Amino acid sequence: MKPNKYKQSHSTEREFGGALGATCIPVFLPLTVLYLLSVCRSPAASVLQWPPPLTPAAQLWDPLAVVLVAGWITLQSFLYLLPVGKVSEGLVLRDGSRLKYPINGFHSLCITVALLLLCLGLGMPLGYLFELVLPLAVCAIALSYLLSMYLYIRSFWAPKYALSLGGNTGNPLYDFFIGRELNPRIGDFDLKYFCELRPGLIGWVVINLGMLMKEVELRGSPSLAMLLVNVFQLLYVTDALWNEEAVLTTMDIVHDGFGFMLAFGDLAWVPFTYGLQAMFLVVHPQPVSTLGAAGIVLLNGIGYYIFRRSNSQKNQFRRDPTNKSVKHLETIATATGKRLLVSGWWGFVRHPNYLGDLLMALAWSLPCGMSHILPYFYVIYFTILLIHREARDENQCRAKYGLAWDTYCKRVPYRIIPYIY
Ligand code: NDP
Repeated sequence: MKPNKYKQSHSTEREFGGALGATCIPVFLPLTVLYLLSVCRSPAASVLQWPPPLTPAAQLWDPLAVVLVAGWITLQSFLYLLPVGKVSEGLVLRDGSRLKYPINGFHSLCITVALLLLCLGLGMPLGYLFELVLPLAVCAIALSYLLSMYLYIRSFWAPKYALSLGGNTGNPLYDFFIGRELNPRIGDFDLKYFCELRPGLIGWVVINLGMLMKEVELRGSPSLAMLLVNVFQLLYVTDALWNEEAVLTTMDIVHDGFGFMLAFGDLAWVPFTYGLQAMFLVVHPQPVSTLGAAGIVLLNGIGYYIFRRSNSQKNQFRRDPTNKSVKHLETIATATGKRLLVSGWWGFVRHPNYLGDLLMALAWSLPCGMSHILPYFYVIYFTILLIHREARDENQCRAKYGLAWDTYCKRVPYRIIPYIY
């Protein structure tokens, strides 16, 4: 029994438009996923097309999709439980304890890729994922609803100190959406950590590969544009899983409860909207010149460099500020005892990692040419997401660091893009 000091009063602060946002988003976003997928495969591929391209009901439902999604979650759960890789501790929780997490996402990716190559070698028609993509999305959406309901219900049995600070408003719709319990676990199996980087992120590159194989079926070989999209996004996912430990200090793991927002984002939104470019290219092949490809590769490289170096610099600084790679950097003290970097990448803009991420997002869309806006969906959505995320983070940092944060903002006035934003 934990002492009373962990008792938590109802949280009052509401994000994402409060109860109204929490009611509309779970309806609107799943419909957006289905709409984008159907538009993407239509000849016009126009997001301004109204009425939207009609999808016969049969295309939304296929029992094979249920089997594949169930098999996929089972496979990834099994790989999560494999005793390979190291085990790391998360940040200290409010009750003073620290949870343990398996760092074997990269192993899961490698084993999944090996299994896929085996399937391809055995002649499995991976290109069929193109036909199945809508029913698969429907299943993933249904799964995220079911999971969020389970999470919401079970949170009432969780001790008060295990609830997230923001997901405890007492408004059922809002709490269901934002997530009540911070680290829901079944035994040692951490549901939020598992969903964060594995089924959706690895699923995304598998769907991309399916689109590439569909192109091979249709045109004999993959196009340069399709190869660029596949390689860039595989690099991004590989990087995320290689640096899996870094997720333990992110807002998602440390601050947000596990509810519909993260469950749907991880299981349905990421795998089915982040790879729209590859889906688009199957139906709308685009020529890319060698020079154009070189420019796009350079842009992706610059974005990746900024993204990786800035993320690694902050992670290293938070883990060990005396490390020789960061100890020369200028910092300011805060009342919490933690320091803030004011030179190096974090003295350039307040979110250099977002800047790098956005440059990469642009590089993923450029191979799709300029004729359609749809393949630019990711970069547009991502810009909005990161501006919103930056504002959320800023609020949290101001609450944590007070005056020191204001000093940092004066020293480093731009948020994401130097001299612009
Ligand atoms: P960040 O890695 O940007 O971390 C923000 C935290 O860093 C702050 O809360 C603060 O935490 C610390 N911090 C901020 N400024 C400083 C400073 N000057 N010195 C030291 N510490 C500082 O968080 P995110 O989780 O938003 O992003 C992580 C990565 O994930 C990014 O590269 C982002 O682009 C990417 N991302 C990708 C998404 C996608 O869908 N593809 C979605 C969301 C993120 P504290 O002080 O407590 O350590």
